[in-house]
Amino acid sequence: MKLQDPELFRQAALVGGNWIEADPKNAIEVNNPATGEIIGLVPKLGAAETKAAIEAARIAQKGWAARTAKERCAVLRKWYELMIDNKDDLGRILTSEQGKPLAEATGEIVYGASFIEWFAEEGRRIYGDLIPGHQKDKRIMVMKQPIGVVAAITPWNFPNAMITRKAGPAFAAGCAMVLKPASQTPFSAIAIAILAERAGLPKGLFSVITGSAAAIGGEMTSNPVVRKLTFTGSTEIGTELYKQSAPTIKKLGLELGGNAPFIVFDDADLDTAVEGALIAKYRNNGQTCVCANRIYVQDAVYDAFAQKLATAVGKLKTGNGFDEGVILGPLIDKAALAKVEEHIADATAKGARILQGGKKHALGGTFFEATILADVTRNMAVAREETFGPLAPLFRFKDEADVIEQANDTEFGLASYFYAKDLARVFRVAEALEYGMVGVNTGLISTAEAPFGGVKLSGLGREGSKYGIEEFTEIKYVCLGGI
Ligand code: ADP
Repeated sequence: MKLQDPELFRQAALVGGNWIEADPKNAIEVNNPATGEIIGLVPKLGAAETKAAIEAARIAQKGWAARTAKERCAVLRKWYELMIDNKDDLGRILTSEQGKPLAEATGEIVYGASFIEWFAEEGRRIYGDLIPGHQKDKRIMVMKQPIGVVAAITPWNFPNAMITRKAGPAFAAGCAMVLKPASQTPFSAIAIAILAERAGLPKGLFSVITGSAAAIGGEMTSNPVVRKLTFTGSTEIGTELYKQSAPTIKKLGLELGGNAPFIVFDDADLDTAVEGALIAKYRNNGQTCVCANRIYVQDAVYDAFAQKLATAVGKLKTGNGFDEGVILGPLIDKAALAKVEEHIADATAKGARILQGGKKHALGGTFFEATILADVTRNMAVAREETFGPLAPLFRFKDEADVIEQANDTEFGLASYFYAKDLARVFRVAEALEYGMVGVNTGLISTAEAPFGGVKLSGLGREGSKYGIEEFTEIKYVCLGGI
């Protein structure tokens, strides 16, 4: 890999301030999903290293929390600037291990860095309260203190931003963090840890542990020093981590699966709806937890929307993320590809029609054609499960009540989208959707300023915004008497 600063690609983990280089005898191979080529090795670590990192974090956190918010935020600001200065290298590392097109990867770096920037600012505004007392001689004081040592487990679909969205508020609030990045994409995590060191984050405050998920996760969840676990990944693993964290009563932040509805009403502007659907469905090749999974189109505009979408999707170029003009990269692995194929086979067996794509891409590997299915109904697997791939299933609906019932008929509740012009309808539908996030006339909702998160099986807590930092603090009430 050609980098302006080759030191940003390091085959090592950071444990309590010490780098552990990968030993080929006990390492994880990381490949480029576009080519299958091994791009490097990271150490296969486990419970012992995690425990050591947690202990180092415990010590480092005390000194970090004792600094002023301004001092902490200055380090974060520097970290943010280093990410931006190195965005091209960070983008190249990301594309090599994740597959998304280089422009999209560099965009993720800028988006990821924006969380560090935002929390570098927000960290100076963790305000408490002074509440009038319940007796004449009393005053009630409320202060917010850092929760302490935080463990984080992150996925491969956003190898940079899913880390910064957790690390930014954690460090700004005065916490320490032990991170386990996804084994498919550890190099992006390692690169930002190198930049954190350069920015002046104290030794031991941030560890990046690569290796066995079960062993690292087991130590993170059972160790009583860890006061918060923040996880982004599947509902299945999130449920397991929730259970494992119960005996030590940790605070949990869970960003889990989604099954986002994308609704096009008959008063919508169809061209903007198509534009939104392209972003909401095909961003990261459909591999985001806020990707539109079910597209509901009202009867009167169904055929027109389907045709416009097919025309637009037909122009999306699939290929190696390093190649010019590529919009859709490979899927992360063979299992991801098999899931898309299963959803298509199930739907077509039950009567769905393929409007576009529908099979493995001629490029081979884990490349898949951008696909649209029409006449999709609620008895098909795609109505219930997240596809996590470039498949847009089009459902038909009659009226508002019908589509709200269908949209809410899922155990998930992360993102939802709808397109409509009527103001009263906009309010009614936004209020009726049982989701943590609603995009109205837009397919792109994620930003550092807004609270990201879900309800139901999609998770607990919010990331980003002024709410995101609260998750890393504890409230302390001090009763002042004798006044
Ligand atoms: P995905 O389907 O996005 O890969 P996962 O939930 O399987 O979602 O993985 C998300 C993150 O959780 C990854 O870092 C993965 O290594 C980690 N993980 C997987 N299994 C476990 C486990 N048993 N304990 C802790 N972490 C785990």
